[in-house]
Amino acid sequence: MNPRDLEAVCALRARLHACPELSGHEDVTIDTLQDFLSYKTSLRLERREGWLLATHWEADGLPEIGLRADMDAIPVEGESGTSARHGCGHDGQSAILCGVGLALEGRRTGRNIRLIFQGGEEDGTGARRICERWPGLQALERIYALHNLPGFPVGQLLVRRGCFACASSGLIVRVQGRPAHAAYPDEGANPAALLSRLVLDLPGMIGRILDGDDRLLMHTVIGLRLGGENFGLSASEGQLCLTLRGHRQADIDALADAVRRAAAEGCAAEGMTCAFETRDAFPDTTNAAPVVEEALGLWQRAGLQATELEAPMRWSEDFGWYLKRIPGMYFGVGAGEDCPGLHTAAYRFPDAVIAPAVDAFAALLGIA
Ligand SMILES: [Zn+2]
Ligand SMILES: [Zn+2]
Repeated sequence: MNPRDLEAVCALRARLHACPELSGHEDVTIDTLQDFLSYKTSLRLERREGWLLATHWEADGLPEIGLRADMDAIPVEGESGTSARHGCGHDGQSAILCGVGLALEGRRTGRNIRLIFQGGEEDGTGARRICERWPGLQALERIYALHNLPGFPVGQLLVRRGCFACASSGLIVRVQGRPAHAAYPDEGANPAALLSRLVLDLPGMIGRILDGDDRLLMHTVIGLRLGGENFGLSASEGQLCLTLRGHRQADIDALADAVRRAAAEGCAAEGMTCAFETRDAFPDTTNAAPVVEEALGLWQRAGLQATELEAPMRWSEDFGWYLKRIPGMYFGVGAGEDCPGLHTAAYRFPDAVIAPAVDAFAALLGIA
């Protein structure tokens, strides 16, 4: 990446950082990106609902390649309510894609390139919406995206054949029993035992699904609430919030089914009712092995080294929605071994990631 472009992209990153916006509200961010790209590049810009498409078009009939960047910030709860902060480095990811836009100026790649600036990643809505509503997606032959990864040397490229990041899904179990005087709890229906049993039975349910295989499937209890503080009243309603996480979406679906079945059977036996809700569902982000193979070759030819991760990342990403439709690759770029973790209060996107990330994309497009 040339020093003049790098300086412009770092300045852009600082501007994006200064106007963090929550999922679905990335208006100023899109304005800022549009300003930058219309001033500095000849990319064709199309503002869509919640995202921005920037196209480098060489000729009809050429293969199309998509590159995606996130651009939303994370919510931060404070005394004065919820605010936004770029705690996941999506300011950096958008700036990197603009750096690719600069690198494409005046270049012939033999392909048409679609730069996808996607909003709504943190709440899991953005990729799904683009996949469902943008017909142009079907024309893509390949799609790539990256994430800045703390804990690895700056600029190190990290790949994985198959699952790169886990699927995850929030599940809420709401149980409605019947109230009774605390002296006669047997006259009501108290969900305490049922919800406790569900929590204790989860490891067994997971064991039965995995059947000895060592792939990841796990649950995290996010919340467990029951009754109130009236000591004369037996609890009559409660809710359990779980995050289910694993290498395979099918395992998560099976675990959610097992939880629902156990809750429904328990409720039926004890004269209670239950309802379920799924939230924040992310698919597994699974790379096509031939695309990873091809990328490793392209990077090697460009003099870039990549490391293969042993295990998938436990976190989730909505890029998996694209990968269910288009062969592609999600990869990591090291953000520094001492870099604070993503979403932590101390995290800030390090600008040193920009040049190696732009170079990695450029190599995939054959313009390194
Ligand atoms: Zn994030
Ligand atoms: Zn992120």
